Amino acid sequence: MEHYLCTTCGTQYAASEEPPAQCLICEDERQYVNWKGQQWTSMQELSNSYSNTIRQLEPKLFGISIEPDFAIGQRALLIQSQQGNLLWDALPLIDDSTIGFIEELGGLNAIALSHPHFYGAAVEWSQAFGGVPIYIHTADREWVMRPSFEICFWEGPFFDLWEGIQVLHCGGHFPGSSVLFYPHGAGGRGAVFGSDTLHVTMDRKYVSFMYSFPNLIPMSERKVTHIYNTLKDLPFDRIYGGWFDRNILSGGKEAFEKSVKRYIQAIQL
Ligand SMILES: [Zn+2]
Ligand SMILES: [Zn+2]
Repeated sequence: MEHYLCTTCGTQYAASEEPPAQCLICEDERQYVNWKGQQWTSMQELSNSYSNTIRQLEPKLFGISIEPDFAIGQRALLIQSQQGNLLWDALPLIDDSTIGFIEELGGLNAIALSHPHFYGAAVEWSQAFGGVPIYIHTADREWVMRPSFEICFWEGPFFDLWEGIQVLHCGGHFPGSSVLFYPHGAGGRGAVFGSDTLHVTMDRKYVSFMYSFPNLIPMSERKVTHIYNTLKDLPFDRIYGGWFDRNILSGGKEAFEKSVKRYIQAIQL
C-alpha cells in the first residue's frame, strides 16, 4: 500500500495498492490535470530528487518550500512561540532534515491549513511530530483526500489558537478558504498569511482575488466584499503571500484596502 502524491497539485491520498484513477483536486475547475495525463509519485521517490528549503523571515518565523520546483510550489510558514510551534499550510515533502530542523526549534504543536491546494502531505507532517492536530475549516471537508484522526474540522468565522494567533474564515477561492493572523509578525505591527485568499501580485504592492488562478476565473464582488469585511478591523502591516518573496512587507493594510477597491472597480467596468 502506498500514499500516492499527485505530481501536479502535490496532494497526498489515502493508502491504496494502485495509484488512484484520478486526482479530484486537479479535476476540479480551479485546477488542471497534467497535460501528459495524470501522474503520481511516492514520498520515497519525491525525497530522492527534492528537498525542503527553509528560510528565516523574522526572528520567530520561517518559510519552508520544496526545491527544485514541484507541483504548486507553495511556501509553508512556521511560527515559533512560547506555547508551541505552528505550521501554516503544508508541503508535499516531509523528510528527516526538515523534521530535525523543526525539532531543534521545539517541535510542532499544530498545523492549520488555508485551503485544499496547500494540504500537501499534511497528515504525514502531523504524524512526524507525534500526531499533532491539523485544523481545517469544515466547509472544505469534502476536499480532504487523506482522511485521518489528526484532522480537526473547525466551524464559524474564526478559530483562536494561542498568543493571539487566529485563523479567519474568508471563503471565496474555496468555501473554507482561511487566512492566519499573526499579531507578533512584522516586529509586532501584525502580519496576515494570505495563501490563495490574499494573493500577492507580482509588483508586491497589491493582492488579488481569484476563484481559479491557473484557469483565470475571477471572484465575485460579493465574495471579495466578504473577505474585506472579515479582515478590515485586524491590525496588520505585513502580508505574507503563498510563495517565497511574494510578500507585502509594509503598508499591508493599506495595500489590502486599495486592492479590494481596485478589484471591484475592475470587474464593474
Ligand atoms: Zn492533483
Ligand atoms: Zn488555491
